[in-house]
Amino acid sequence: MIAAQINRLTEQFPKEVTLVAVSKTKPISALEEAYNAGHRDFGENKVQELCQKAEAMSSEIRWHMIGHLQRNKVKYIAPFVHLIHGVDSERLLVEVNKQGAKNNRIIDVLIQIHIAEESSKFGFSYAEAVTLLSNENPYPNVRVIGLMGMATFTNDKDQVKREFDTLSAFYSSWKTKKSLSVLSMGMSNDYAIAISSGSNMVRIGSLIFGSRN
Ligand SMILES: *Cc1c(COP(=O)(O)O)cnc(C)c1O
Repeated sequence: MIAAQINRLTEQFPKEVTLVAVSKTKPISALEEAYNAGHRDFGENKVQELCQKAEAMSSEIRWHMIGHLQRNKVKYIAPFVHLIHGVDSERLLVEVNKQGAKNNRIIDVLIQIHIAEESSKFGFSYAEAVTLLSNENPYPNVRVIGLMGMATFTNDKDQVKREFDTLSAFYSSWKTKKSLSVLSMGMSNDYAIAISSGSNMVRIGSLIFGSRN
């Protein structure tokens, strides 16, 4: 069931699109099912859960931290995390850099941009992102490899499309200058729109593993 869903999705994606299987709240047996079918990219939004699963599972897995990350928890994932999607403040960048240095790693991150209308979602504004990207990267143990955004939770597909298109255009305008390679946008309910707007990394949970409680 899980493996079939992953295959069904990846078969319809352009080949440059990476599927991050969002496994939060799901038991390790469910992740193993995806792993045994060859899947390697998993996303979690809670540090403790991510660490427990990482410890129990194959070191071949690429773990994506996709949710809001508290600074005091960066140290737990810094030794092994593959990509941090939700870097939403300068202070968090400072901490990721510090923990990267401690672990002798350069940690890949995405800058989260606030693209939704709702005020509750985290992220840099476009203006703040311009300031950040305009400067020379002062963090030697952090590599900004792309951008991440979450659209407004709405049935209005035109609005979602507009939000993704705007982020995609912003990404394109910085891509070459900053050597960006990842545009992470799209979830179970809006991944098709996101891909049509140029996303090359989608984070899909419930469509693969079933709905969460
Ligand atoms: C939970 C979550 C997802 C996946 O959501 P689904 O609707 O289950 O696909 C994607 N991105 C983030 C940041 C999440 O927290």
